[in-house]
Amino acid sequence: MSDKVNILGVKVDKVNTEQASDKIIEYIQNGDMGKSVFTPNSEIIMMAYRDKEFCNLLNSSDILTADGIGVVYASKIVKNPIFERAAGFDIACRSLEKLSDIGGTLYLFGSKPGVAEQAGKNITAKYPGVKIVGCSDGYFDEAKEQTIIKNIQKSRPDLLFVCLGAPKQEKWINEHKNEINAKVCMGIGGSLDVFAGNVKRAPEFYTKHGIEWLYRLAKQPSRFVRMLDLPRFGFKVILKGRKFPQE
Ligand code: UDP
Repeated sequence: MSDKVNILGVKVDKVNTEQASDKIIEYIQNGDMGKSVFTPNSEIIMMAYRDKEFCNLLNSSDILTADGIGVVYASKIVKNPIFERAAGFDIACRSLEKLSDIGGTLYLFGSKPGVAEQAGKNITAKYPGVKIVGCSDGYFDEAKEQTIIKNIQKSRPDLLFVCLGAPKQEKWINEHKNEINAKVCMGIGGSLDVFAGNVKRAPEFYTKHGIEWLYRLAKQPSRFVRMLDLPRFGFKVILKGRKFPQE
């Protein structure tokens, strides 16, 4: 089978966390610029199913991994299985370990004021070889956005985490990746909140049994409406998933 699986039009790479982080470090060591990494879960694939332009944007990225057990199940239903999920946060952690080994640079962009700075402190404590070259929060008007872009350009990071939630972060990366002088840009949602210690990841029990969504719902009941897309995603994949060609 191919190295990608087509899930409702989104062509997800069949890579695990190790392979994805290896590729990221390879881009950095090669001196590539403007590479993009997105990690769609079922909700994001539903967004792409409804919005062709967003679907094309995801498909134009350099690495697109399955963040969530729902996407792994879907790949089995369409008979082109991915064997494990490669969640954005896990890829970020593994990439930081490797970035630390090569003394690479990191810029943190997103989340509420102060979160990126705290995340930066925790990251340098855990991955001492990583040099944080800038932090910006994710709440901006046009003028502030220009300043953020200039700061990123000046700091020329090896790796840029963009944590604005989906689809804002993917659209932002796609629009700016060729002008910001970052080698690799990763859209990784609420990860800065986790690095900062403000939000806990679901315990392994939940991820292992495919019920991470239940943990997140209990912690943040406001997610209820967007989570209605999870059963919709399941039905769509069962009813229509096999009509999408696998290469
Ligand atoms: N966020 C931001 N700017 C915005 C909207 C959201 O920086 O305009 C941040 C928000 O503070 C949070 C992250 O984006 O840290 C999104 O988190 P969420 O858990 O919703 O992301 P997911 O991974 O589920 O897409």
